[in-house]
Amino acid sequence: MRPFLILNRLAFRLAQTLAVLPLIMLVAVGQAQTYDLLLKGGHLIDPKNEIDAPRDVAITGGRIAAVAQEIPVGRAKSVIDVTGLCVAPGFIDIHVHVFENDRGGDLWADIGLRAGVTTAVDAGSAGWRTFPAARREVIERARTRVLAFLNIAAGGIGRSENKLDDLDPAAAVKFIEQHRDAIVGIKTAHWASATWDSVERALEAGRLANLPIMVDFGHFLPQRPFEELVGKRLRPGDIYTHLYISAVPMLDHQGRLRPYLLEAQRRGVIFDAGHGQGSFSYRQAVPATRDGFWPNTISTDIHKGNINRGMKDMANVMSKFLNLGLSLPEVIARSTWAPARAIRRPEYGHLTVGAGADIAVFKVLKGDFGFYDVLGGKVEGSQKIECELTLRDGEVVWDLNARSMSRWQDLPPNAPTK
Ligand SMILES: [Zn+2]
Repeated sequence: MRPFLILNRLAFRLAQTLAVLPLIMLVAVGQAQTYDLLLKGGHLIDPKNEIDAPRDVAITGGRIAAVAQEIPVGRAKSVIDVTGLCVAPGFIDIHVHVFENDRGGDLWADIGLRAGVTTAVDAGSAGWRTFPAARREVIERARTRVLAFLNIAAGGIGRSENKLDDLDPAAAVKFIEQHRDAIVGIKTAHWASATWDSVERALEAGRLANLPIMVDFGHFLPQRPFEELVGKRLRPGDIYTHLYISAVPMLDHQGRLRPYLLEAQRRGVIFDAGHGQGSFSYRQAVPATRDGFWPNTISTDIHKGNINRGMKDMANVMSKFLNLGLSLPEVIARSTWAPARAIRRPEYGHLTVGAGADIAVFKVLKGDFGFYDVLGGKVEGSQKIECELTLRDGEVVWDLNARSMSRWQDLPPNAPTK
């Protein structure tokens, strides 16, 4: 081929490209994304994606549309300035009580939104006989995503947990098959007899349904040692809740952590905080965490008996671990991605592009704070997590300081109720 022909062809290609260039640019401009909402200037902590850095987060259609160091404000229909605040996946609290058992509930399920909780897992308030009302009254109506551990006892908490005939794995599993979208595991709690029946039946249901179980050990009795529960009986992925309750044989005579606990954790048993009204003692938590025994998942065990006591809310329980020496990214990991994995819902607990925009925006306050346990034992601390904004599917559902609102003078005449 002669050189001038090659040049000719190159020139032709160039002319072709130049001719279509305006068209390409036009298409690009037409496709330039306009986001629904931009969280601008925050510090993102997204443990699943190993991000702990300044990032803007854009949302479209209730989903994460972009995460980048710099997203121009002009590309979003609305912008919330979150400078100086942390942005994280919405918290996942895997131990709550938001069903009123056979009365269904009264929608206090949304109380966790104030503390950044976008997914709340009811821990066995209902069994299969009482779950339909809970589903109708709470799960279908709450703004929070509500999931559940089904109580192995058909009548749920406080009624039939010690009636052996009510602990029927086959009946529970048959029921679970109809409610797999909402039931993430099986719970047993408050068992008082000196036998393993409740644990065995929950485990059988867990095996049949291929779901994890969560155990509140109830009465700690020598005939069924706790060491055997976490050392042998629970399978990897099963959850023991209330890890710092006073009854756990936690420390040796020198006040050091007994090694079987870390061994069980290494074996894959998930230790859940489950603070509650009676299940978090600094006498256990301070020496245990000093020796490296932290909860895999941070949870509240929130119910009406503890919101005005030492527990308070998810942010307060997370703050307790922060002040015991767990780093902020670790606290967030154990309140987002770790619980998402524990309930086998890997679609939650992170802010990957495409994921649902469930987001907690919070401040880490610095100052003189105090935290108390279920015995009234106090620990002083210098940091406190305070939730400023909670977003559920991209919509602001909690706004502590009116950051997403307009000045009243700027509202249109027909402004809707917020
Ligand atoms: Zn509980």
